[in-house]
Amino acid sequence: MKYAKEYAVLVVGAGHAGLEAALSCARLGLDTLLLTLNLDTIGKMSCNPAIGGPGKSQLVREIDALGGEMARAADATFLQLKMLNLSKGPAVHSLRAQSDRAGYMRYMKKLAENTPRLDVKQAEVTELILAGRIFQGVKTKMGFEYYARAVILTTGTFLRGEIFIGLESTPAGRLGEFPADALTASLNAHGIRTGRLKTGTTPRLDRRTIDFTKLQEEPGLEEKHFFSFETEGSLRPQQPCYLARTNPRSHEMIRANLDRSPLYQGMINAVGPRYCPSIEDKVVRFADKDSHHLFIEPESADTNEMYVQGFSTSLPYDVQLKVLRTIPGLENVEIMRPGYAVAYDFIYPEQLTRSLKLREFTGIFAAGQINGTSGYEEAAAQGLIAGINAARFVCGQGPFCLTREESYTGTLIDDLITKEIREPYRMMTSRSEYRLFLRQDNAEDRLLEKGRAAGLISAQRHQKFKHSREKIEAEKIRLAEFKVLPNKKNTEFLLSLGEKLTKPSSGAELLRRQKISLLSLKELGFSTVLSSAEAEKLEIEVKYSAYLTEVEQQIRYAQDAEKKKIPPELDYDAIIGLRQEAREKLKKVRPETVGQASRIAGVNPADISILLVWLRRLL
Ligand code: FAD
Repeated sequence: MKYAKEYAVLVVGAGHAGLEAALSCARLGLDTLLLTLNLDTIGKMSCNPAIGGPGKSQLVREIDALGGEMARAADATFLQLKMLNLSKGPAVHSLRAQSDRAGYMRYMKKLAENTPRLDVKQAEVTELILAGRIFQGVKTKMGFEYYARAVILTTGTFLRGEIFIGLESTPAGRLGEFPADALTASLNAHGIRTGRLKTGTTPRLDRRTIDFTKLQEEPGLEEKHFFSFETEGSLRPQQPCYLARTNPRSHEMIRANLDRSPLYQGMINAVGPRYCPSIEDKVVRFADKDSHHLFIEPESADTNEMYVQGFSTSLPYDVQLKVLRTIPGLENVEIMRPGYAVAYDFIYPEQLTRSLKLREFTGIFAAGQINGTSGYEEAAAQGLIAGINAARFVCGQGPFCLTREESYTGTLIDDLITKEIREPYRMMTSRSEYRLFLRQDNAEDRLLEKGRAAGLISAQRHQKFKHSREKIEAEKIRLAEFKVLPNKKNTEFLLSLGEKLTKPSSGAELLRRQKISLLSLKELGFSTVLSSAEAEKLEIEVKYSAYLTEVEQQIRYAQDAEKKKIPPELDYDAIIGLRQEAREKLKKVRPETVGQASRIAGVNPADISILLVWLRRLL
């Protein structure tokens, strides 16, 4: 049955990707329909209710700078905030929130239901309706047909989802939730290639059965930091997390039960994330370690369920319980929900363009776990980009793409479409060659103008950002002009920091030294007029100016290669001298630029030279 209302965009799935996608389309003024399996699980965090951390806080701040929602939702619903990696350089400083899972879902559900031009309905999408390769609509299990100009697929871990606890397996997208079994066949029938991945989660423990006196308490931040550049106000009271440790007895128990592990019995025919191994994997792979850290973290203010970070497992329920009870503080623990592994279908992402559209089709976009990634932040960043691009496609505008040089979001998408992803892809700071430049503090500097151009940043916010930037630049001038003389008071103070002062120096020169901060310059008479966030930016920009200049140079080189476009229809078979392996890889990935071509595994610098000569002949 054809549904009477026609939409501009359909979004399939209301997880982290689907929400950002649907909200951005509706905010850009398009009639949008969000279809999802269960209206009670909108924005659910399937695994740890935590947002941010290394590589991911940068993504959250980028989402915020582009006009997405995740940062505001995380600020509204955190139970604890922490700044990770403070002992390392600013490139890897990362804000992390322990979120209130129930609160986050309530926030997102309320927002989605009250966003103008956005309709939200519970339905399972079972088929795509195409005319040739052009998207027309979707069919649902109840027999409705919804029509629109574009669709964004964000099905997470639900396509033919199957969960494993010990040697038992059940069809499910998450524990206790139905899978979406039909859609993969429709995708395959239209020629969209899919593969199989897996991920896992930890058991949830009853707070009342944990002896917290035996665990190490991990308090939250004292200094104010938020994810969104727009969040104001003071820090709310925070809940502690706790540190526990496994021991040789726990490991022995795991080893003794590997014959009941679906992973080690070859039952899971899918690839898991190397960087997020299960506890049984850690015990086998790092056999020389006799202890692993576990963080016991609250799931919500309204529940006794506690999450055990570091204990993802698909061992049988009774083994999970026995192993946990070997850990000091958990001797009498009760499990409220067991840990499990889930295997699911994903789309091979090399079929996508940089705008997250399926290359061979008109009007079909995909974002999130379905593209082979793992993580809420990775999903949300893609959802936002797919949403903006679906809206632009409907309005007849060109694609909106981000580059590696300006963002982790661009890096993520470039990796997805260029490298052959065969395990769940998670963002890490080491994925970026420009990480000193791609920091969480400067996400607005890098991307706010783009968010404004995309139509998701208000004039008021744009103005506020410009004003703040002007203040920082004026302060840099004041700092360069501020003179510190080598008198007794100043030299003694600097000596106490381990620094010498032998000649008159400017505030900027002193700030470039390792041990001198903006705060310490206050003792020398320089009081800043900046807010703490602005002061942080200024300090990093001045202290690391030499390195940043080098990175900027590197970025300019990279941009030259990115400017060299490759025609989408280029006939690689006609290029004389190209090695067969490079020819095959180039035909498969169909890079959009010479820069992208140079990052494909199996394409070497000699192949790029041949390609460049060929392109020059074509022009
Ligand atoms: P999801 O959040 O999964 O949302 C998918 C949405 O699509 C759901 O709302 C679902 O109802 C809907 N849907 C699916 N199919 C259909 C259909 N046919 N019709 C209508 N609606 C549909 N990430 C980490 O970073 N670290 C981890 O350790 C980790 N462990 C995980 C463990 C488990 C068991 C699971 C399930 C996930 C784990 N994740 C982990 C991944 C994290 O949950 C996802 O990366 C993130 O939620 C992906 O967001 P998404 O929007 O792509 O998909």
